[in-house]
Amino acid sequence: MQALHTMTTLTGDTIQGVPVISQLNVNDLEPGRKHRFFFQGVQMGTGQHWYVPIVVAKGIQDGKRISLTAGVHGDELSPVDAVQRVMATLDPMQMSGTAIAIYDLSRPAKEYTQRNWPIAQKGGALIDLNRVWPGDEMGNDPPTRHAGILWNRLFKHNVDIALDFHTASTGGDFTMFIFADFRNPEIRQIAELFPIEQIKNDPGEGGSLEMAFVEAGIPVMTIEIGGPRVFDARKIAMAVEGSLNVMKHHGVIEGTIGRTSRESWNFFGGCF
Ligand SMILES: [Zn+2]
Repeated sequence: MQALHTMTTLTGDTIQGVPVISQLNVNDLEPGRKHRFFFQGVQMGTGQHWYVPIVVAKGIQDGKRISLTAGVHGDELSPVDAVQRVMATLDPMQMSGTAIAIYDLSRPAKEYTQRNWPIAQKGGALIDLNRVWPGDEMGNDPPTRHAGILWNRLFKHNVDIALDFHTASTGGDFTMFIFADFRNPEIRQIAELFPIEQIKNDPGEGGSLEMAFVEAGIPVMTIEIGGPRVFDARKIAMAVEGSLNVMKHHGVIEGTIGRTSRESWNFFGGCF
């Protein structure tokens, strides 16, 4: 029997017809269909909360649970489009496993299409949500509390493989590339399943969502889909293909593996 605190918990609220949850456990969702929720994040000064949109494609059969996150930074658009496209291709009646899409984790940053989360304290500081994981529900600032809520109640019990999609920050640009920690051979394997132009072997940035997963022993990558503030169709297609390859490799969906790093002239960087 599952511990009570890890069961999916509906708050009773709905927003625009979508039920609000304060705890997710994909194991107790009905299999063979998609589920849509708003996840109740940190409370604001007004007493209302920031809500994070979630779609869970729960396969008819059990299998690996793969999370796809887009919008840890608010100026990164291609990741949202890529994850939506992956989810649109999935038919839960044909799946053995679960895909969990989590969009716009940094809601106030997304509202202003900016990288960082503005807070009222410290004269109006800007906090990078990708430097505060795994967060702290009792932390000093809202982004740290928000990360703690999401880590404890959404991520840590539900994910076997994590794909965290980003882009370069405003003012910069990237090729299609992945940060991956090759100390874990499973991470190298899933990185090479992406038709990617560059892989950087990297132990991870402190406080990143990637690092939190690494420290929890869960295979994870940070996948950079080019530059910010645009929808890059070519790189989005590569991100979608790579994500589906990972799902095929782990038997979550059926089908032939598409293009991988071998076909895309991948360049390896970092320490080997
Ligand atoms: Zn980012």
